[in-house]
Amino acid sequence: MLIDSLLSSLINIVTFYTISFPERYPMWFNYSSNMVYLILYNFMGVLFLLYVDSKTKIGSIKKVMLLIGAAVIIYDAFMIVTTPFTKWIIYYDENGRYCHGSMMNSLYVTAFICVAIAITIFIAKRKMFNHYQVLSIMFFAIGVFFAILFQIHHRSHVISNFVCTMVLFFIHTAFENQAYYLHGDTLCYNRRAFIKTIDQYRYRKENYLMAIIKIDDFENIKHSLGRMGVDDLSERIAERICREFGKSAYYVDLNCFAVIKIVANTHQLREQIKECFTTSFILEIGDDEVILDLEPVISFINVHGENVEGYEMTTIIQNTANRYSDSDYTIQESDELIKPIRREKEVLRLIDNAIKNDGFMVYYQPILDIRSRTFTCSEALIRLKDEKMGFVGPEEFIPIAEKNGRIHDIGDYVFRTVCRFIKENDVLSKGVNYIEINLSPEQCNRMELANQLIGVATEFGVDFRQINLEITETAEMKSYGMESVNELITNLHSKGVTFSLDDFGSGFAAIDYLIKLPVDIVKIDKGILWQAMNDEASMKILKNTIRMIKEVGKKIVVEGIETKEMADILIANGCDYLQGYLFSKPLPPDAYIEFISGKWEEVMITY
Ligand code: C2E
Ligand code: CA
Ligand code: CA
Repeated sequence: MLIDSLLSSLINIVTFYTISFPERYPMWFNYSSNMVYLILYNFMGVLFLLYVDSKTKIGSIKKVMLLIGAAVIIYDAFMIVTTPFTKWIIYYDENGRYCHGSMMNSLYVTAFICVAIAITIFIAKRKMFNHYQVLSIMFFAIGVFFAILFQIHHRSHVISNFVCTMVLFFIHTAFENQAYYLHGDTLCYNRRAFIKTIDQYRYRKENYLMAIIKIDDFENIKHSLGRMGVDDLSERIAERICREFGKSAYYVDLNCFAVIKIVANTHQLREQIKECFTTSFILEIGDDEVILDLEPVISFINVHGENVEGYEMTTIIQNTANRYSDSDYTIQESDELIKPIRREKEVLRLIDNAIKNDGFMVYYQPILDIRSRTFTCSEALIRLKDEKMGFVGPEEFIPIAEKNGRIHDIGDYVFRTVCRFIKENDVLSKGVNYIEINLSPEQCNRMELANQLIGVATEFGVDFRQINLEITETAEMKSYGMESVNELITNLHSKGVTFSLDDFGSGFAAIDYLIKLPVDIVKIDKGILWQAMNDEASMKILKNTIRMIKEVGKKIVVEGIETKEMADILIANGCDYLQGYLFSKPLPPDAYIEFISGKWEEVMITY
């Protein structure tokens, strides 16, 4: 745009002469100078449109934008190039005077359309930009608009080029400012520069070697230095790395620095990086002087540039090693590292699709009540099937949904589906007392969960006693969620909902949970059972765990029963319920209804 603006301004000076004194020059020169000027001048609108498109990066409309741009360019060029013959745009009359043709204003209209579309897109995406950037674009739109209006009425005042150049200057400082790409105090390239560089390499299809540098034991250092200290330390490290590697170095994050080289000797690069850490770092924290000797953790990635986007790279480097180990010496391939990230993106897309288009199913796995030898309850388990990717298991997609905030929608879907299922099939009359529903820890931390569940159950007219909620122990819950889970349980208990503590023994604080959470049932994790079938010590632990849980007065479910031997041991040790493939896999709703309506008796005979 700047080049276009500069050229059109220069040629504008020439046209000033060819318009004022046409008799001095040959006619072909009069025409061509004006035509070149008009082409350059009118392309500004298209360039602006493409510029805004490249900044807002809305992939889905990229093609349309290019099409609009091409159409305008073809139209303008055609009208201008043919004007010596058609006189549509400009012409010199019989007296040799410069005149505007009948279609002149259509050029303004096309330029105006481009600018209007660009501004609309920009406004829709304004949240991506800072105030200064928004201001510069608005300034461009308003400035150019009024300048053109002014010039249509006062042809001799050639100001629109001047205004255009002025506002372009603003846009330039707002968007292309180098300062955006430098870290304030260290003047190293920052995270934004890092992402942009990766994208540029991708565009150029260039391969390169990337060294990721982190600090060993950073979490501990962070704890002992505090927020300010750690910022300071990070800057010192960045400074050293930048001094050593100059423009190849990036300060990506607090504990993450990168060096990008097109050609490199890894051994030499490693030595160079280590060199940056040979002398101690001396920090002043308050009145104290802290001396730190740091060990860099270096990971090398061979990047197949064409395949990796800037943002994806930030995820890849997040996943690289945090602790020093010998495997440090292997060079990883970016194509391998990107696979799980792509897969996760793809699965997230499936999840979103399924949320929108009702793409989930709930299956039910019957649970055997040992006392009555009937299947008095079951566990609801979600399923996701995609035409292209086939079956995606909850072990894979539930953690992704949790990480990306989709678990609440999924939880709501499962709860509704189960409530509808209970009501429509009157499962109680078929001997099913309750259905167990899995809750994710993320769901439990939401204050409104209890009310939401109560609302849905009431809406479907489901007796609360027909619902059992399974909660899982996790590290996060231990640190901040115990209180709120306790409240949730107490609140819903009063309505008649019962609770199970899921995956008992596989996690973090099993005993602590058992003491602190007033659950009704404890579900022993299948991993514990399977381990116990393999070695004697684990079997002792399993048996004593069962005894302990019984002594504190909770019911026990064991999941993952695959053989008769497992079932016999558990029954002999006093478990209350058994769940596993030995009896039934999770079944789709129809098959489950068939199962509880009598088919189960065939199963029991074989067992
Ligand atoms: P979970 O809660 O531990 O569920 C039990 C898992 O063990 C289920 O896997 C079930 O199919 C499987 N299973 C049961 N008996 C056997 C057996 O005898 N052998 C073997 N090999 N497996 C058995 P599934 O359905 O793949 O679910 C995996 C996990 O996904 C669940 O583990 C649960 O954590 C999560 N999940 C499933 N549905 C939901 C849901 O609706 N909400 C939430 N938040 N999580 C869910
Ligand atoms: Ca479960
Ligand atoms: Ca489990």
